[in-house]
Amino acid sequence: MPSLFEIPLDESVQVLKRVLPLMSQQRVPTIPQNYAIWYDYVTNKNDELSAELEGKISAQDEFDSETCRTLYEKFYLAELHAEVDGIQGAVRNAVESVLSELGGLGEEITHFSEVLDECGESLEDDPTPEDLNNLVVELVRETARTKARSQEVEGSLHTMASELTELRSQVDRLSRDSRTDALTGIANRRAFDEAIRRMTKEVGETGAPLCLILADIDHFKKFNDTHGHLVGDKVLRFVAQEIEQCVKGRDMLARYGGEEFAVLLPNTPIDGAMMLGESIRAIIEAQRVKNDQREDLEKTTISLGVAQFVAGESIESFIERADACLYASKHNGRNCVTSEEELAKH
Ligand code: GH3
Ligand code: MG
Ligand code: MG
Repeated sequence: MPSLFEIPLDESVQVLKRVLPLMSQQRVPTIPQNYAIWYDYVTNKNDELSAELEGKISAQDEFDSETCRTLYEKFYLAELHAEVDGIQGAVRNAVESVLSELGGLGEEITHFSEVLDECGESLEDDPTPEDLNNLVVELVRETARTKARSQEVEGSLHTMASELTELRSQVDRLSRDSRTDALTGIANRRAFDEAIRRMTKEVGETGAPLCLILADIDHFKKFNDTHGHLVGDKVLRFVAQEIEQCVKGRDMLARYGGEEFAVLLPNTPIDGAMMLGESIRAIIEAQRVKNDQREDLEKTTISLGVAQFVAGESIESFIERADACLYASKHNGRNCVTSEEELAKH
């Protein structure tokens, strides 16, 4: 099968002409991940994917962002994971063969020491010059054999070490990719889920405060509708970069969903998290994203909700509390930060 990169321009344009109307008819945002799904559907690349899409189309299911994300994870990220599994298998094989080489060398050395022992014994038995000559010949032969064998093992250990280093960097790259959001380059939902599990567990052990900020771009749909999805994507990257610059150390920023971001703040009490939320809000409001003509777009604003983890509660309840605060910010006119304390005042 030719690589995707070798597909001629006209052929790809033909596919484009079939994919775009279909995506538009099904109201699927034309972001790269979704395009990959529908491209493969139209070109019949994957039977299972085609069957799933056809099922959804005939059931008139909506292709909302959650559905699209799930499809992408199932058919594309799962593949990535299979690749990780493959590499893990290769690492395991390499380690096993190193061990068996070393085991082989062990036998070789044991044999050599037995030969030496035997020589020692024959020397005690008043050997003739003839015996001594044979002994020396045998010793030279055994020494040369053992040396050659250790060099062989050393050579293959060396090769294996460099293969393992290469495999390790492949695993690192894949593991990074599967935890990174392709559009913004920040952590994705998978990485967020892992981090929140880890950090809430730590609270149970250390008792240090942990806060969560959820941020959602205001009227983002209007950006897409007015300027198109590519400009929408640019706004998403802008917001991600700005928040990224505000967080540091162990704080963790992730793209939580379509135009929603989450920041986990270990070792941070609610007042600190509120202050950070407020500065993120102000920094984003103060800047303008430009369109391709280098003209300023309208102001981008975000609404935020902040909650502190209560030891013993579930992760769902922690997220729901932050989400309720975010919802209150939306309700109170957007472009503001709400904590539970303020929620209680309303
Ligand atoms: P609100 O202030 O209430 O949050 O309004 P909103 O328009 O921001 O919220 P809504 O949930 O109605 O719309 C979110 C939009 O975000 C809809 C979806 O098409 C868009 N979106 C989700 N992911 C992406 C993406 O990766 N790129 C682009 N360009 N748009 C996206
Ligand atoms: Mg939203
Ligand atoms: Mg929004």
